[in-house]
Amino acid sequence: MQSRAIIEARNINKTYGNLKAVNDLSFEVRKSSCFGLLGPNGAGKTTMMKMIYGKSLRDVSPQSFLNVFGYDPARNELEIKSLSGVVPQEDNLDEELNVRDNLLIYARFYGIPKKTAEERIEELLGFMELLDKKNSSIRELSGGMKRRLVIARAMMNNPELLILDEPTTGLDPQVRQMIWDKIRKLKKQGVTILLTTHYMEEAFQICDRIIIMHKGKKVMEGVPQELLAENIEKYALQIADKKNLSCLSRFKGKGTARKEETDEMAVFYSNELKYLEEMAECLEAGDFYIRQSNLEDLFLKTTGRGLNEE
Ligand code: ATP
Repeated sequence: MQSRAIIEARNINKTYGNLKAVNDLSFEVRKSSCFGLLGPNGAGKTTMMKMIYGKSLRDVSPQSFLNVFGYDPARNELEIKSLSGVVPQEDNLDEELNVRDNLLIYARFYGIPKKTAEERIEELLGFMELLDKKNSSIRELSGGMKRRLVIARAMMNNPELLILDEPTTGLDPQVRQMIWDKIRKLKKQGVTILLTTHYMEEAFQICDRIIIMHKGKKVMEGVPQELLAENIEKYALQIADKKNLSCLSRFKGKGTARKEETDEMAVFYSNELKYLEEMAECLEAGDFYIRQSNLEDLFLKTTGRGLNEE
């Protein structure tokens, strides 16, 4: 049986002047799942998230429908806030307060009694492996510790929905892996996760379902593994320097491969592993590698390799 929808979004639009930041977006997020919003810079991910927790208002239209825990964020921001935790893109910790007090002040916003808050702080700092930093000042924390603290803070009110805007940007692989593991644990405990990320590996590892957005619009939605199987060739032959491409011309017409290139490098995508291996035979070891296609390949295929700046 399918679990219930925590977020239902239908035909959502958000316009800033002439810019359609979110353009007719529809999706559903199921309980205890991790849902990823992916897209290049400026795709509209943060704008969509802000509408979900009531920090930004969607354009008014009869078709548009947004429901979070049964509430409309445009009208019931507080109800949604009490059931959610938000990790914004920027760490907005209070540098004047130490770690414990940053959490305590948040508990006060939620009206959590001091004794309960103290217990919860111990529990959350333990969960995020920050207990030894309890009395440290924020300035003493590394970027990874700050990020973990912001996640702990978002969980202060035991949220049923955790909204994470690029939770692991700029973090080292160890911290990133640790945060992924915590997210997996939270899902098992029944928490629903809505996440934006630029790390395709992250989306692949922890998201049950993703949307790829581009310029405000949905270009693809589904289970990461299935999206890969349905939308991109299975294998990639990556050639680091295009000057080595000339020997490949003799393989023209002997198999099917799709080429993508930048100024310096090229990638051939194909479902025929043997064909890519044959092509690679004319190259020196170290000048190429053959691998399975991944979500980053699909992301680049659907949103392009150019920069998305206005
Ligand atoms: P990133 O990956 O860089 O965080 P994003 O996908 O989260 O990008 P948004 O921050 O939602 O993108 O921005 C979507 C578009 O809306 C961008 O073109 C941005 O410049 C514009 N935008 C966002 N907020 C505002 C605002 N308050 N006023 C005007 N334009 C805005």
